[in-house]
Amino acid sequence: NQGTGSWPARRARMTPERVALSYLGHDRTYRDLRDRTYRLASALSGLDVRRGDRVAFLGANQPSMVETFFAAGLLGAVFVPLNTRLATPELRYILEDADAKLLVRGEGRDGAGLPGEHIPPDAYDDLLGSGSPEPVDEPVGQDDVCLIMYTSGTTGRPKGAMLTHGNLTWNTVNLLVDVPFAHDEVTLVSAPLFHIAALAQTLIPTVLKGGRVVLEPSFDVERTFDLIASERVTVMFGVPSMFGFLARSPRWAGADLSSLRHLLCGGAPVPEPLIRTYQERGLTFLQGYGMTETAPGALFLGAEHSIDKAGTAGVPCFFSDVRLVTPDGSAAGPGEPGEVYVQGPNVMPGYWGRPEESAKVLSPDGWFRSGDVGVADEDGYVRISDRLNDVIISGGENVYPAEVESVLYGHEAVAECAVIGVPDDRWGEVGKALVVTRPGAKADPAELLAYLDGRLARFKIPKSLELVPELPKNAAGKLLKAPLRTLYGGSDD
Ligand code: AMP
Ligand code: MG
Repeated sequence: NQGTGSWPARRARMTPERVALSYLGHDRTYRDLRDRTYRLASALSGLDVRRGDRVAFLGANQPSMVETFFAAGLLGAVFVPLNTRLATPELRYILEDADAKLLVRGEGRDGAGLPGEHIPPDAYDDLLGSGSPEPVDEPVGQDDVCLIMYTSGTTGRPKGAMLTHGNLTWNTVNLLVDVPFAHDEVTLVSAPLFHIAALAQTLIPTVLKGGRVVLEPSFDVERTFDLIASERVTVMFGVPSMFGFLARSPRWAGADLSSLRHLLCGGAPVPEPLIRTYQERGLTFLQGYGMTETAPGALFLGAEHSIDKAGTAGVPCFFSDVRLVTPDGSAAGPGEPGEVYVQGPNVMPGYWGRPEESAKVLSPDGWFRSGDVGVADEDGYVRISDRLNDVIISGGENVYPAEVESVLYGHEAVAECAVIGVPDDRWGEVGKALVVTRPGAKADPAELLAYLDGRLARFKIPKSLELVPELPKNAAGKLLKAPLRTLYGGSDD
């Protein structure tokens, strides 16, 4: 088995006694992790999970999530982590789209209204106990799909980005070229593992090196300060909002941060004042740009240039290539904006069951179109300057206006609507909805927002909603978002 599923066993060959996972005061060694993933793989195969079958997981970060990921990989099955913040209809859509054979549920999210066979949290230990700890040896190769991670799109419905074992392996190699993970790293994993960054930039490389993962169900400012000090945390990943919350806490000034070696930050643009605030504490961000479809690293700004190249996301990762392409298809020169294309062994083979959507973003020679706009300086350092689609990034979660608008249109009073991003100190951006109501229809903003509750994940629900007389359109009747942002968004584009 050449897949990531074999990594706990490979690690246990070298360092069986080292602690692999610490979770709420409980330690588990690499030997334990190996035995438990073997047991779980054997139990899953007893439930008829076969190569290529999808095994979904719903829950906050917890050991059973890590074990399900590795156990699925041992069988050549495909791990489908679900975002606990999604509303029930959104989760149902994904489970059906992925045609999941089984849903393993952890603590942190109930499973009411979700289809298929479930392993509820209180049945997990029995399931594990029913399996054998004998080695599982399925032939799994680098090109086999390891996981499917759903990301929303401009067209509304989420699509499943397929990532292979090779994608994750090469992303790890790319990361280790830039970040010297050591054998004794203590990695705080509090960002959700259902997003690629926590999984691929912290959990997986730490297991490869035999470090200790301090797993947290979710990000909490107080717990983060406590754990950094008590566990002597050396590595942490966060989206900019998380690092912002820490810096604004009353505990920031007195916190013991002396153990920290590597702070990985990405998923959204990192504001320069935040970089300076951390710099004043002697802490340098290692910034990355990437996306689910590239597993995720594409550009990386190492510590060496974090100050003189601040504001950029760095240069391409060692084994990846990045090209900036102008609208006429030529290569953008220095200072000229172009769409970011990524090629390399970390780029996904496509979206699950969506050949047309895949062909739109992946060229036959393997270049992936990100939908982001970048500008390179004379030295090749790329600043992400814009997005071609109008995705809103709120606290590291992506919100696609088209998805929110399509749900809003389901309300009988809505004649027309548009959702835009507006700057926000805490979340980077938040959504704002502008609605034209049908003649004679009565609807107030609070009622329209309440309508979205339960139909969309909370983080996708606009923070404000304004009723407007009309929305700006071009001659062809196409809605124009730029003037809306100028009118209502308080942003400069
Ligand atoms: P996702 O597809 O959910 O993984 O989100 C990926 C998107 O997040 C990218 O396409 C970018 O728009 C955005 N993003 C990620 N990292 C950065 C960064 N360092 N700077 C600016 N935008 C970023
Ligand atoms: Mg995306």
